Amino acid sequence: MRIVIVGGGQAAASMAARLRAKGHEGPLTVIGNEPAAPYQRPPLSKAYLLGQMGLDRLTLRAPDWWRDQGIGLHLSETALSIDPAARVLTTDRGTYPYDALALTTGAVPRRLPAAMGGDLPGTHVIRTLADVDALAPQMREGRRLVVIGGGYIGLEAAAVARKLGLEVTLIEAAPRILGRVAAAETADLIRALHRAHGVTILEGAAISRITGEAQADGVALTDGRQIPADLVIMGIGVLPDTALAAAAGLALDNGIATDSRGRTSDPAIWAAGDCASVPWQGGRLRLESVGGAIDMAECAADDMLGQGRDYAPKAWFWSDQFDAKLQIAGLNAGHDQVVTRAEQGDHTASVWYYRQGKLIAVDALNDARAYMIGKRLIEGGLSPDPAAIPTVADLRVLLS
Ligand code: NAP
Repeated sequence: MRIVIVGGGQAAASMAARLRAKGHEGPLTVIGNEPAAPYQRPPLSKAYLLGQMGLDRLTLRAPDWWRDQGIGLHLSETALSIDPAARVLTTDRGTYPYDALALTTGAVPRRLPAAMGGDLPGTHVIRTLADVDALAPQMREGRRLVVIGGGYIGLEAAAVARKLGLEVTLIEAAPRILGRVAAAETADLIRALHRAHGVTILEGAAISRITGEAQADGVALTDGRQIPADLVIMGIGVLPDTALAAAAGLALDNGIATDSRGRTSDPAIWAAGDCASVPWQGGRLRLESVGGAIDMAECAADDMLGQGRDYAPKAWFWSDQFDAKLQIAGLNAGHDQVVTRAEQGDHTASVWYYRQGKLIAVDALNDARAYMIGKRLIEGGLSPDPAAIPTVADLRVLLS
């Protein structure tokens, strides 16, 4: 069986490793359009941007590994089209007949449109190694950075920039930061953390445009304010990269639609990672997370080899900002109750999400114990009385 994987990120690397581990001995090809071999993306907006982690530690597998596993790793190569009837993939360098094809094409960062200055020199996004290699030299002490978007990318970049001594203003169009991913209680904790470190956060602030002629020199808000800037980072979300799938006629639904085992509407094509959505709780879920990319990729690999099983999203995330660690267990979608537990120490607390009395997620800031206990409770399907969360002396009693 000839297997071809399009995409050179975490999902591709995990899928390739799983296929070999589960006994696929036939031809296996990975085609990535970036020049670098598959690498970890999470440190790009954290330790790598800060200059505390080198490329050697970002790389997921050393060059020898790809060779020893007999995996054809094609870098700087762009997939152009799929002929699903003939089962052939065409790239800018050749054609690849396949028996099974996997799309792990990831997501593309949104930018403000060119008419709003989104393509001016001095504007940046953070998604690839190349993005961060272009940005990092610009992050110099004393310069003024405006971050557009108060999601994890924007907040992590803001924290790195303050550590490097830049003046930072973060602008969020929505009424509060982290609106898509966390409750107001968690946003309050993160806002306080950033303000304590000197980040100016403007919420409910709509952008009129990034200003400047040959170079971005600031951000104009619709209320007339002008925020001067030497550089601008846009962290305004990502769009699943579905172009190849759409042109091949695959079903799309908030990404490339797969069944619970990662198979698309074409029986010889699978998808995994940020580009794919899976059936979940009567709707569809597109999990933008490295843990999801790994789990989905392994599930799809198993299905290709006839060892399929349903994918169960096991959500866990983390975010490092300043010296604080935010750890998240579970998925908070649809929560109807939130309780907060404060602990001793600066910026130390946890936020617990319930849906119809069932514990579904925990955000823990500088509180590894709350994270571990929350995770175990969620995985075990256990839901402590919400009233007990803020009041028990020791969270460990919730496990007994
Ligand atoms: P995100 O979570 O979608 O956050 C983007 C933020 O920008 C949202 O709050 C959004 O608000 C806001 N925004 C959108 N348009 C705007 C505008 N014109 N002006 C001001 N604000 C605007 O995406 P992200 O932070 O860019 O992250 C990209 C991806 O990387 C996501 O998949 C994320 O999960 C992942 N990531 C994860 C981590 C982690 O887990 N630690 C760290 C970094 C990145 P609205 O919701 O109102 O549009």
